[in-house]
Amino acid sequence: MILDSTLDGRTNLIAGANKEEYHLRNVTPGRDFTPTLVADVRNTSEGEGCPNCADGVLKIAKAVEVGHIFKLGYKYSQSMGARVLDRDGKEVTPIMGSYGIGIERILTAAIEQAAAAVTDTKNAGSSFALPPSIAPFQVVVTITTVGETALIEAGDKVAAALEAAGIDVLLDDRDERAGVKFKDADLCGFPYRINIGKKLAEGKVELVDRLANTSDDVAVDEVAAKLKAKL
Ligand SMILES: [Zn+2]
Repeated sequence: MILDSTLDGRTNLIAGANKEEYHLRNVTPGRDFTPTLVADVRNTSEGEGCPNCADGVLKIAKAVEVGHIFKLGYKYSQSMGARVLDRDGKEVTPIMGSYGIGIERILTAAIEQAAAAVTDTKNAGSSFALPPSIAPFQVVVTITTVGETALIEAGDKVAAALEAAGIDVLLDDRDERAGVKFKDADLCGFPYRINIGKKLAEGKVELVDRLANTSDDVAVDEVAAKLKAKL
């Protein structure tokens, strides 16, 4: 006979009667039976009531542990002989606690969360975009063809305007194919990318928002202000 530990000490319960469709009423553990095992055997489930108040309802959600708090009690302060004076000037052993936050965990959790946000079929599952607050650069300006002087000049100008607006910017003017640069940018997790390419002939550049999975053609002189507004 197994008693769930949450019911230990309670009286007048309803219990199974070891017979189909029958239950026993007013069962009190200890008085009416002696459990062979008291254990935490049942799982909580969504929608259950709160043990402390009348109208609380249990919600279940996924979480990522990025930090923790431990109460260490006297375990270490006692063994290490730590002593402090209390408000009356009396020597006491302090209660110790430890607080930790995982820098690497924050990064991996952010990658995991943001990878789920990148849903365009081309990149799904193979890239991620970091939140602007922790990305190494908030935006990368990609000059698609470095052989064209006009693109390089526009790229320099856009990067300077972004910098003047207080935005962390990386200018990718490497002599590489555009596809290689895009892939590298995706793997660095930059949340925004500005492509300086063919549309410059119409005075436009492409602003890619990787967190929202959108891309817009924006006038070259307005792109810094547009991104600033997004950030
Ligand atoms: Zn409650």
